[in-house]
Amino acid sequence: MLFNSILVRYGEIALKGKNRPEFEGQLKRQVQQALDMANVPVDQVERAYGRIVVDLGTAPPDALARAVQAMSRVFGIVSFSPAVRLPVELENPLEGVAEAAWALVQEEIGMGSPGSLAGRRPRSFKVDARRAYKRFPMSSLEINRELGAALLRRGIGLPVEVHNPDLTVSVEVRQEGIYVSTREYPGPGGLPYGVTGKAVLLLSGGIDSPVAGWMSMRRGIEVVGLHFHSYPFTSEEALRKAEDLGRVLARWAGGKFRLRVCHFTEVQKAIQRHVPEELRITIMRRMMFRIAERIAAQEEALALITGENVAQVASQTLESLGVIEAVTQMPVLRPLAMFDKMETIAKAKEIGTYEISIRPYEDCCTIFTPVHPKTRPRLAEAEAAEEALAASVDIEQLLAAAVDSTASTELEPLPE
Ligand code: ATP
Ligand code: MG
Repeated sequence: MLFNSILVRYGEIALKGKNRPEFEGQLKRQVQQALDMANVPVDQVERAYGRIVVDLGTAPPDALARAVQAMSRVFGIVSFSPAVRLPVELENPLEGVAEAAWALVQEEIGMGSPGSLAGRRPRSFKVDARRAYKRFPMSSLEINRELGAALLRRGIGLPVEVHNPDLTVSVEVRQEGIYVSTREYPGPGGLPYGVTGKAVLLLSGGIDSPVAGWMSMRRGIEVVGLHFHSYPFTSEEALRKAEDLGRVLARWAGGKFRLRVCHFTEVQKAIQRHVPEELRITIMRRMMFRIAERIAAQEEALALITGENVAQVASQTLESLGVIEAVTQMPVLRPLAMFDKMETIAKAKEIGTYEISIRPYEDCCTIFTPVHPKTRPRLAEAEAAEEALAASVDIEQLLAAAVDSTASTELEPLPE
């Protein structure tokens, strides 16, 4: 393999002032972890001002494809490039660089190799240099010009095209080394997983909540899933769905995802028996939020996350959202609030949750969904319904039992 390193670029985290060292440290650990998980042997992962550098040493050739896939799932990475790293030479500064660039170019041209050029032979090129190390004797413009000329002399056989070339030979001159690359892969962006704090995600088996979880994770939130299971009204398969969704999210969370599973059957039954049909969904959601808040306290989490979406269904009118969240003091994050369904579906496909979400098993909400739910419930109505419910069942005891029943599993990533 030509490459001996991967140069990692990150964006937003560079802006975060005094948190920056912590964020960089976290990103570095997560890059290391992702590569370990992908079985890519790595000599070391270093922080170099404004970049993270993965030293591949003598990793086998097939390791690169695995590294690319693993790193495209590390939040905080804006882009990365497999690169040849050379020592900085102050005499004859471009000699080794031209050699390495030529080897990479031959690879790109000769094999019509897959990847950024989509298997197509490039028809134009340019050199794009960046000099971060100011003691290097050539400016970036000089490097562009001289390295371009050197590649032409060696017979690259392509015209230079500065605006939109098919092939870009990037050269980054840094104090610790010069990096030469011909590929740049996008990362998922966002912030390193876990730097923002922890939150509890209400994870159903549907399309929306896993996407909401992923978007929260991308903002650096460590997510713990909470699934409400109403066996035997809902099947083991419905639970399996939630678990598999958690296992997809684990791929983006350093390889593990904690799922709490709450046995919600008794709460459901009480609602079914004692609450008028049109308010059942509202009351059920309020119970879910109450339980979720207590689980969040156990987890030392600071917020709740749902897949709710403004006006998508009856229980998601502004009135409903208000009546439901009135039971909790915690911030309720709804990353999908303003999405169109098509946007959510596209995201679900992209992150790999869609195929699991559309498996046919009912979740507890579909089964208990009334024919005519109240679309604009008022808080007073919900409170009155709960007072009536309290005349027949001990709500506090019901909630406490549900919280106690909430088991915890550490999920591993779903195999690809
Ligand atoms: P989803 O596609 O996420 O199921 P939805 O569009 O079907 O969402 P609802 O069924 O009204 O909407 O659920 C709204 C939100 O409530 C879900 O996004 C999820 O966060 C939470 N929720 C619903 N059912 C469950 C459940 N069984 N376990 C955990 N959370 C749930
Ligand atoms: Mg649902």
